[in-house]
Amino acid sequence: MEKKNLDWENMGFSYMQTDKRYVANYKDGKWDDGALIDDANIVMNECAGVLQYSQSVFEGLKAYTTEDGHIVTFRPDLNASRMVDSAKRLEMPPFPEDRFVDAVAQVVKANAAYVPPYGSGATLYIRPYMFGINPVIGVKPADEYQFRIFATPVGPYFKGGAKPITICVSDFDRAAPHGTGHIKAGLNYAMSLHAIVTAHANGFDENMYLDSATRTKVEETGGANFIFVTKDNKVVTPHSSTILPSITRRSIMYVAEHYLGLEVEERDVYFDEVKDFAECGLCGTAAVISPVGKVVNHGEEICFPSGMEKMGPVTQKLYDTLTGIQMGHIEAPEGWIKVIE
Ligand SMILES: *Cc1c(COP(=O)(O)O)cnc(C)c1O
Repeated sequence: MEKKNLDWENMGFSYMQTDKRYVANYKDGKWDDGALIDDANIVMNECAGVLQYSQSVFEGLKAYTTEDGHIVTFRPDLNASRMVDSAKRLEMPPFPEDRFVDAVAQVVKANAAYVPPYGSGATLYIRPYMFGINPVIGVKPADEYQFRIFATPVGPYFKGGAKPITICVSDFDRAAPHGTGHIKAGLNYAMSLHAIVTAHANGFDENMYLDSATRTKVEETGGANFIFVTKDNKVVTPHSSTILPSITRRSIMYVAEHYLGLEVEERDVYFDEVKDFAECGLCGTAAVISPVGKVVNHGEEICFPSGMEKMGPVTQKLYDTLTGIQMGHIEAPEGWIKVIE
């Protein structure tokens, strides 16, 4: 297969239209067979449920080339099951998990020419999503849905290595108790836009959201989960029913325990103890781990001992081990790597 002539080394994180996308329609109580199509545009009624009441959920994962030349994806079964959870919470019909995994493979195969070569740092970002498409004006779930997957090549998240970032404690809340913080829904992002634009305007890279009920516990950022490393090398991640269960974070906790032999804890993390941690990182598909060097809470600065120049040593080990597993240098746990071709 001939690769597209793209500048793999210098790609940004933006949308580029690729050749094929997958679409399946839900109507009269069932999903149709689904197919790969060429048209990147969607025509829908002006009153479509997604346009009026934001009934939509999504996922994000990557396909990439391993050292031995295979195109693979990382734990797509977890994206499939998470999307089922998201869909149920918004009263949408779940897309079957086995069909989700198969459709991801179809889209990657059909766009294999856009999968960046090994070593470029770039990847093919895959975006499954689903939305209510029939007209809805009285507030209720749609009757008809579309499930789609497109793929777009994206550059390495950090050009020239991961520099620690500075984040601020947000005055806005991300998720309410018993709300929708634990599902991957566009609505959670719509309402986070004002908070992130405000953070950027104030010179910060990201927001740290605290639990909205008590404002005492660390939750997550707008799109990544936290890990912290204690001074005695324990890896700690916040436990909360209102954070999105990151697949990257779950994988990192597994790697910490089973590959690096570190103690791990998933528990309440109070903001008051953040100053005592040695390292901090943000986990998500896009960057794997972004190191955090500094947290600012209304002028009060917490500077982690790992500093502003590079990742902390434990974070670096976690990063190297997980990316080593993804790229095929380190043996993966059973079922983590799905070879597409
Ligand atoms: C997608 C997402 C994450 C990261 O999840 P991954 O599965 O690791 O990509 C974290 N937080 C939020 C709010 C998200 O939407």
